[in-house]
Formats: sequence, structure tokens, C-alpha cells
Amino acid sequence: MTLTRLPAPNRRRLLQGSAALTFAPWLLRHANAADVPRFSLGIASGQPHASGMVLWTRLTGAGLPKQVTVHWELARDEAFTNIVAHGDEVAEADWAHSVHAEPAGLAPGRWYWYRFQALGQQSPAGRTRTAPAPDANATLNFAITSCQRWDVGHYAAWRHVADEQLDVVMFLGDYIYEYPSRPGSVRQVEGLWFVKTLDQYRARYATHKSDPSLQAAHASAPWLLVWDDHEVDNDYANLQGQDLQTNFAAQRAAAYRAYWEHMPFPKSARPVGPDMRIINRLAWGTLARIHLVDDRQYRHVQICPKPGRGGSNTVSQKMCPEFMDERRSLLGAEQERWLADGWDLKRPWNLLAQQTLMARYSWTDPADGGGTYWTDGWDGYTPARNRLLGTVAQRSVPGVVVLGGDVHSNYVADLKPDYDDAKSPVVASEFCGTSITSLPLPQARIDAARAFNPHVHYGRGDQRGYMRFALDAKQLQMQVRVVDALNPASGVTTAARFTVDAAKPGAVPG
Ligand code: FE
Ligand code: CA
Repeated sequence: MTLTRLPAPNRRRLLQGSAALTFAPWLLRHANAADVPRFSLGIASGQPHASGMVLWTRLTGAGLPKQVTVHWELARDEAFTNIVAHGDEVAEADWAHSVHAEPAGLAPGRWYWYRFQALGQQSPAGRTRTAPAPDANATLNFAITSCQRWDVGHYAAWRHVADEQLDVVMFLGDYIYEYPSRPGSVRQVEGLWFVKTLDQYRARYATHKSDPSLQAAHASAPWLLVWDDHEVDNDYANLQGQDLQTNFAAQRAAAYRAYWEHMPFPKSARPVGPDMRIINRLAWGTLARIHLVDDRQYRHVQICPKPGRGGSNTVSQKMCPEFMDERRSLLGAEQERWLADGWDLKRPWNLLAQQTLMARYSWTDPADGGGTYWTDGWDGYTPARNRLLGTVAQRSVPGVVVLGGDVHSNYVADLKPDYDDAKSPVVASEFCGTSITSLPLPQARIDAARAFNPHVHYGRGDQRGYMRFALDAKQLQMQVRVVDALNPASGVTTAARFTVDAAKPGAVPG
């Protein structure tokens, strides 16, 4: 993949100085340390708020001192003639030479450009922005993205995300996958093992982040991120791995540490042992409040697992007595309260960024408790979903839009506090976006379940890409954006459009 493929002239500028990106960093062996590319994993920004954001990079290559001073600059213009903030950060070997700079006191609702310098080299430049002031009128253009398994596809979707002129990119989990590649994969990851140690997690992030299209998407706008399971281990829950590993807390600690090292989270989010707080909430002018939650770290373990295992299962409700156990939670009691107390009753929209499909999804006829459900998602925590949506109904929370990923399919659905009650109202709208690359269930299975899930208006497993949103005070408009992930040069098409009226929950086509 070459940089000349990237269309917009400003894109080429954003990537200037990053010609070494096409080489995987572990293959770089240079005689002269000054020639070693130090910014080969690109740059990123994240967690925008009205007066600042986080700027990220990580120095790469052999021969790095234990501590390196990294200079950063933030400008009002792309040419960096009007630099409004700058500073130094110490990149430490202990934290994989990552940099998390936090410019403060910036003007709200503005675009900025940023870059780094270290060891005589300059990073590519990125575009970022502050959120609008909490009392300012605003619109919001954003995309939801998830599940970018590197070895099963190309990142054409990221090239198009970078060109969408978005205010914010939301990434809703599965930034890396811990698996080794299968023979014949589109690309081969750097190891033959299941990732478990800190060095292995770091190498796996470097593999994913070596891709120039992903780097371009990071450079195009600030990101808001939550993780899902594969940043640690498939289907893990709280401190339980799917193989019931005895040392899982140590594995989670290594995984969370590597996650923080590679993502634009603030220093205050740096993990302590196996704990890292990614929960976040921010206002986007008078338009919306955005809530970001964590459904992995605090959840109860999955119900009715396969014998001798942790992780998910697909079970009939009738065979699983814990199915309606009110004590179980996906978010954990404390986070459930944090969310319930934090809904915005004044702004027209509440965007809930989380990991997976929230709407009920049964593989068999759910009448009279006859449903069959996947236990890792919200269906495995049905009373917790009913509590969350019950609060939304009870308090008449305006404009709740639930955003998710995880299931490698595009779903558009109505959310109801009780799917067993035919009179239960639609209280929120759901958009669960497909994967960037990761492989789905066969479309025939999704089609076969259609009649059991009449509240699901759209279900497509055969699409890779992302969902693009335009939000104003009256309306949300969503486009399903589809690419061919087997073709790095793929174009993008709009496969479907849905609209939500701020005054009436539930998405309608068009
Ligand atoms: Fe995934
Ligand atoms: Ca997942």
C-alpha cells in the first residue's frame, strides 16, 4: 500500500514524514540510530473536551534511551504558523516510550493541528479539535467503528473514515485480536501464539498500528474509545478468562497496560495493576451528552457456560435458570448507578457508546420463554438491560441512541424495557455497527432469525465498514458505509440510510 493512494491533498500532508510506515517495526534494522524511524506507529488524539484533548504517540525502533524528551506543538493552522500550545513529555521505556500530552486552556469548538519532535525527527501531523462550549449550539458528525482484526482483511474502511471530515471517530472495541493468524490469511500477524504477555500485547498493537490507513484515520480527527474483549482475551468477564486461566489478573494487567500505552487516554487513566478506568462522559455543546461505558471489567461472568469453560455460550432460556437473575449486571452496580444518574434531561440527545448489541436477539421463537440467546451480550444480562431501559422510560430521557459493535454485523433496532411485554414502548434507538475487517456469521443465519426479532429493522452480516452519523438538534441521520475489506483499494458505498427524530425514539429508513 502506498501513500499516493490517499486521495485528499491534506491527507498526504498529514502523513508527511511517515514513508517508513509500510515496514513492520520489528523488521526495521538500521545501522545508524539517527535513521531509525521513531514515529512509525503514527500519532493520535482523543478524549476531546471543551478546553483540550489528549495527544498521543509512541517512539519506536531499537536503541532508544530509557527516557526520551518529546516535544509537542499544537497550532491553529495546518502550516503550524500559529502555534498556540507546546510542551515536553518524557517518554519512558517502562511505558513503551508512549507519550500522552494534554494541552489545556484551549478555545472551545475549534480545529487544531499537532505534531511531535524527538531525537532529531518530526512526526506526521494530525488534525484534532475541542468540543463546543457546553452552552453553544452545535452539530456533530461522527462514525462508529469496531473490530479491526488485522490479518483477515485490509483497512480500506479506515482510508474512507479519514476522508469523511468527521468531528469525532468512535471506536467501540476489539482494536487488536489476540489470535495467531490462520494459514492463508490476508496478512500474517507477528507471532504464532495467543497473545498473553506485555511484550506480546505491545507487538500486537504495533502490528495493527503499522497500517497507514489506520494511521490516517487517527490523524483525521480525535477519537473516543472503549474496549471490548479482544484487547485482552476472547469473551473474558471481569477477572475470568474464557479458559479459566489461573493467572488471568496478570494477563489483564499486561493487556490494559499495553492498551493505555497505545491509545490517546490521559495520564489519569494509566492502569494500576489489572484496573483501568475508561468510563467517560462529555457534553457536545447544547446538542448531546456522550456516555462511554465499560461492559468487560466489572461484569458478572456469563451464565450457563460450556462445561469446564468460561466465556460465552448460546443457550435456550428454558435450560438456563439464571437467565432472569436480577442480581447479575453487565456494567457492575457502581457503573449502572453512574449511568442512571448521568442521563442528560435537557439536551436533545444522549449517545451511549458501548460494546455490543443491546436489543434482544433470539435465534428461536421467543414466545413463552422459548428464546435462544448468546450469553456474552446484553441478552445474557437481560434484567440489567431491562433496568437500564426502564430508567430511560421512567425519567423520559430524551434522544437515547445506543451505539455498539462486537457482532461484526450492521443492526438497526428499537430498544424496549421489556421485550416479553407486547405493550412495552420504544424508548431508545440502537445502531450496532459492523466490523472494519473481522469475520461475521453467515447472512443466511441472520435472515433465518428475522421473524423472531421484529424490533430489528436491519441486519446485515455481509457488510464490512462503518456507520456514519450527522446529528443536529432535530434529527439524527445515519448512513451504512460499506467497503470490500479484501481489496485495499476498495471504494465505499452507502448501503442504507436511517433517520431518528429527536422527539420520537426509533429509527426509520430514509
Ligand atoms: Fe470483534
Ligand atoms: Ca468482541
